[in-house]
Amino acid sequence: MGVADSEVQLRVGQEILLDAVKLWTDILDFVRPRISREGFETWLAPTKGRAIRNGTLEVDVPNSFFADWISQRYSAEVRAALAGVSGQELTVSFRPRDAADSGVLIRRTPVRRPSMKPNGYRLQAHLTFENFVVGESNRFAAAAARSVAERPGANYNPLFIYGGVGLGKTHLVQAIGNHALALKPGLKVYYTAADDLFVELIQAIEKNTRLEFKNKYRGLDLLLLDDVHYLIGKERLQEEVFYIFNSLHDAGSQVVFTSDRPPQDIPTLESRLASRLGSGLVVDVQAPELETRIAILRQKAVMDRADLPDDVAYFVAARVRTSVRALEGSWIRLLALASLDSRPITIQLAQEALKDLVKEDEPVDHNRIIKACADHFGVSLSEITTGGRTKQLALARQVAMYILRTTLSLSLKEIGSLFDDKDHTTVMHAIKKVDELKIKDPGFAARLEKLSKGINRGEPR
Ligand code: ADP
Ligand code: MG
Repeated sequence: MGVADSEVQLRVGQEILLDAVKLWTDILDFVRPRISREGFETWLAPTKGRAIRNGTLEVDVPNSFFADWISQRYSAEVRAALAGVSGQELTVSFRPRDAADSGVLIRRTPVRRPSMKPNGYRLQAHLTFENFVVGESNRFAAAAARSVAERPGANYNPLFIYGGVGLGKTHLVQAIGNHALALKPGLKVYYTAADDLFVELIQAIEKNTRLEFKNKYRGLDLLLLDDVHYLIGKERLQEEVFYIFNSLHDAGSQVVFTSDRPPQDIPTLESRLASRLGSGLVVDVQAPELETRIAILRQKAVMDRADLPDDVAYFVAARVRTSVRALEGSWIRLLALASLDSRPITIQLAQEALKDLVKEDEPVDHNRIIKACADHFGVSLSEITTGGRTKQLALARQVAMYILRTTLSLSLKEIGSLFDDKDHTTVMHAIKKVDELKIKDPGFAARLEKLSKGINRGEPR
């Protein structure tokens, strides 16, 4: 819908009313699939187009906090939407309902279709290494990503990053793009997700522009292809991806893939990448452990200039365990609640904020962990907590101590007290032992991971 047409139809004095509502709705439809669902529901759903005046689209928002937040967080998406939806220069101004005239602006957008811009196309400025919290769960992936960003094509090519939903894969590949471009502004960097590539391919076939399609990809220095598990079962798309990949690889350009599973679980991809994976690297990102979750929350709070007390950070991090995305959703919810009612961030507020968001997440208590470990090793609860020196018992106890430490972050002393008042050095030794075993025995590491995750999801054994 062009704004110009409706201006003619709907002009009422200087204001165009109906039109603003519709235009903003169109913009939101464009933005919705591009940001997180929590983010959309929390920040954008309560907004409404009010008027278009002198080249400015005025949008009602609940208060000035929303205005700041939306313009800080979502201005790139809103700008892209403006270019895509209205096709002409417009400024968006957010008008807090509580203060009629102190709007926050997203300024004039140069109208350029994003696809005309090969450098850094579709990179989001805030997805950087600086904003990526590194912990045990993602250390290796983050290091590999940095190395690739610093010298694209030179180190690991392709780099293949896999892991579950919301664990930071997109963040990492975007950070690669942003960092590589910052170091070398002329670099041709292109980020796309496999499903978008699919749409693009279909359009190229329909419009008979396959050559342009191919050439566009062939000329890149760095291709970031997100979510390649989408290729499963799409033969035609796979052909194209291999063609693109091979020509880039042959030219020494860097390719980074992400996926929700390792390459061997995408059989056609793996067999066709196999010869090339020799020069590449496969890394995974795991669910963040408690310390990392707390660090991520702290970082979000700093970025949002909010005061997050330690006990609240712990409270939220202990309950939201499945992904960083869920954690971020909880934080956004908490912050929105605090700002809407001008309340300080407290445990009580966190309880409210998490009420609907994390139904699955009953806090894990220590009894459940100890019981699950006892079950797993086929020993009784009293055997695991008191005496008993067989090898199996010792291991069961060590694993339980380890999981208590990593998931609940109990102190060594607290853990000791749960096991017939063992000394804190015994607990320390147990944790060290498990750490060593994890390194020595990958099978053990995998079982431990599974056990630990099972407990977290409330399904012991
Ligand atoms: P994935 O692509 O693996 O599904 P994303 O990269 O989209 O996950 O991450 C989900 C959200 O969590 C994003 O907003 C991202 O910025 C944030 N995030 C993920 N990992 C981290 C991290 N280690 N530090 C800070 N933020 C993170
Ligand atoms: Mg992703």
